Amino acid sequence: MSETGLHHVTAFAGSAARNLDFYTRVLGLRLVKKTVNFDDPGTYHLYYGDETGRPGTLLTFFPIAHAAPGRVGIGETQETAFRVPRASIGWWTHRLIEAGAAHEALVHAFGEPTLRFRDPDGMMLALVGTDDAGAALWTGGTVPAEHAIRGLHGVTLLLAEAGPTAAILTDVLGLTEAAREGSATRYVGGAAIGGSVTLRAVGGFLAGRTGAGSVHHIAFRAADDAAQTAMVARLREAHGLSVTEQRDRQYFRSIYFREPGGVLFEIATDAPGFAIDEPVAALGSGLKLPPGLEPHRAQIEDVLPKVA
Ligand code: ZN
Repeated sequence: MSETGLHHVTAFAGSAARNLDFYTRVLGLRLVKKTVNFDDPGTYHLYYGDETGRPGTLLTFFPIAHAAPGRVGIGETQETAFRVPRASIGWWTHRLIEAGAAHEALVHAFGEPTLRFRDPDGMMLALVGTDDAGAALWTGGTVPAEHAIRGLHGVTLLLAEAGPTAAILTDVLGLTEAAREGSATRYVGGAAIGGSVTLRAVGGFLAGRTGAGSVHHIAFRAADDAAQTAMVARLREAHGLSVTEQRDRQYFRSIYFREPGGVLFEIATDAPGFAIDEPVAALGSGLKLPPGLEPHRAQIEDVLPKVA
């Protein structure tokens, strides 16, 4: 089975410095790219992941200082979960207490120990203990390798009804239904890292409000341009959806569409990856701009807040 599942999750944050501190120091992720929002170059785009920023390990942010907090509602991502070894959940509970991070009591969801917590902007996160977490590929962080976050586990989407979204997951994005629990249905892709999408159908519910801590979109993997093109054709022809033209995101190439449940979906190519403009050893160390924005570097650096 090909590597299907999540490529990355992108959310809004408040303070860039606080966001960087939390994800690198508390959670031990690697900052794999410091760039700007290509559609709004006065705003950072910070990418966190494993050593090389493999697809499925990436959580990215647009930090906007003093942004009002968001509120999760239908048609949005409710929770973003990371994978850790099952035996590491206790270590993480202490870690979050030490860091003063708001967390809930341990629960079991789909048979897996799940520790729910929030980032400093109130974004809903979870650590999920799995038996097949695999080895950590980023060992240069602040968390011992045995406990390190392996990548994304998956996301939970809050929807009025699950069926139309499920059809896109299974018919276009390469996921299959794996389990049901209450009002939630879990779909999994071929990739272990970032392979899970859970749809929670809640009928009528409060609409969300976008703000700091809100997920802006989730991106799924396409092995290459040809695979992406085939997925776009299927979205348009079999599902009647409107899809953007391909956009060059420097580290991957993307298309975007609003899925029937209201969540903004992206399909991103695995290539070329983050080592295209700085060596793996130096990932995240410099402000990287795409060629089209490089002539404006001085003005861009002038408006961006200083982060470490
Ligand atoms: Zn994206």
